[in-house]
Amino acid sequence: MSPVTYKSMRRPIERSNQHFRKAIKRLPLGVTSNFRYWGDDKTIYVQKGKGARLWDLDGNEYIDYRLGYGPTILGYGDPRVDEAAREGIKVGGVFALSTELEYVVAERIAKMVPAAELVRFSNSGSEAVMAALRIARAFTGKDSYIMLEGGYHGIFDASLWYAPMENWDPAKGDPEITAESAGVPQSLRKMLHMVPLNDANRLEDVLRQHGNSIGAFMIEPMMGNCCSITATKQYLHDAKVLCERYDVVMIVDEVKTGFRVARGGIQELMGIKADLCTFAKAIANGYPISVVAGREDIMRRVGDGVTHGGTFTCHSVSLAAANKTLEILDETSALETIADYGSRLQKGMGQILSNRHIPYSFVGHPSMGGLFFSDRAPDNYRDWAKTDYTFYDSLALHLHDRGVLCEPDSREPWFICEAHDDACLDQTLAAFEQAVDVTIDQLKNKTQLAS
Ligand code: PMP
Repeated sequence: MSPVTYKSMRRPIERSNQHFRKAIKRLPLGVTSNFRYWGDDKTIYVQKGKGARLWDLDGNEYIDYRLGYGPTILGYGDPRVDEAAREGIKVGGVFALSTELEYVVAERIAKMVPAAELVRFSNSGSEAVMAALRIARAFTGKDSYIMLEGGYHGIFDASLWYAPMENWDPAKGDPEITAESAGVPQSLRKMLHMVPLNDANRLEDVLRQHGNSIGAFMIEPMMGNCCSITATKQYLHDAKVLCERYDVVMIVDEVKTGFRVARGGIQELMGIKADLCTFAKAIANGYPISVVAGREDIMRRVGDGVTHGGTFTCHSVSLAAANKTLEILDETSALETIADYGSRLQKGMGQILSNRHIPYSFVGHPSMGGLFFSDRAPDNYRDWAKTDYTFYDSLALHLHDRGVLCEPDSREPWFICEAHDDACLDQTLAAFEQAVDVTIDQLKNKTQLAS
């Protein structure tokens, strides 16, 4: 990730800067995830979060639409979940043995997601997808796999590949698949095929040519790391049929959409049933736990040749938090509240943009919507490259200065939690209006300077 370039930062972040100078001596980039580094003098550190807001070390208050990239579905420090977590502490942690609650939470998941016939827990999204890929390979006996351009499935070697779109020249054919990190062995590249979303013909071509070596198709039907660009129902249907025809396991990665866009995730919205599916972020309102789940005949390979486990799987605190969070999501109207806020936010933003004759479109679901400055929403990552995202890049930084924390990278959607309330909405829209005007002025000045 390249450092964020603020043109003119208005708010003070001196304490964060001071902390950065200390932290960089002990922690690479001064942080514990590369994505949290926004530049040597721009990286902010959190003092605390509560509800839909967080405060940085300098006391700047933000309404947060990043929400840890999605896990905070109810709000930071939700008292109902934290109380359950405190009960979980009393159970004792991890034992290298199982507890009864694992079955209870697995039952909840199976009730909410019909594809989850059998369930295994892990700690992070990456671990769950890594397990899904291993199970799919074991089940089919085939090692190669397909990913979508713009898809993201975690921090493990098989998934750390991408199709660079920033400088892509359509005249030169497909973008060149590139490792997202040094240290990812180039030898892995030959097992990976990449296709654009919503093009079943391309998928079929790849399967026709390489189907005898491809065991898995990993797909986020709503690309949570690519502006929430969404598959059509027709594409998902065609993809499922093709996967069946070529004996390929369809892994629906719901790490971001799961228990967020609907109780049964994107599969419920799209009317599909995955062979395997993965969940993580929203399951426990931020406590670390993830899930690989799916068809019984495939999942039974776990324990029948496939290794799965881990010292910290099903820590008693995470499990208790998951049980409570899923209960709330299943039995209350939290998800409806979240979607309603997201819709009102998009309506308000849309009005502000329309009043200024700025073309825009929203993509995905109101609980995790992508904002585009183009009146036609993209169908896939190639379309995104053709939109003008420079407006967003400037706007995001003016929003930060006005207490609205969205991701500076336009490919990340805006996440909503249950704690976003009317006060958040009013404040966000007021800040949005100001930030849009400042951005218009700034870009006008830039054009004038250039001409
Ligand atoms: N899959 C998807 C769709 C994700 O969005 C992410 C994280 N952004 C992951 C997998 C990896 O999850 P984690 O960061 O918990 O390892």
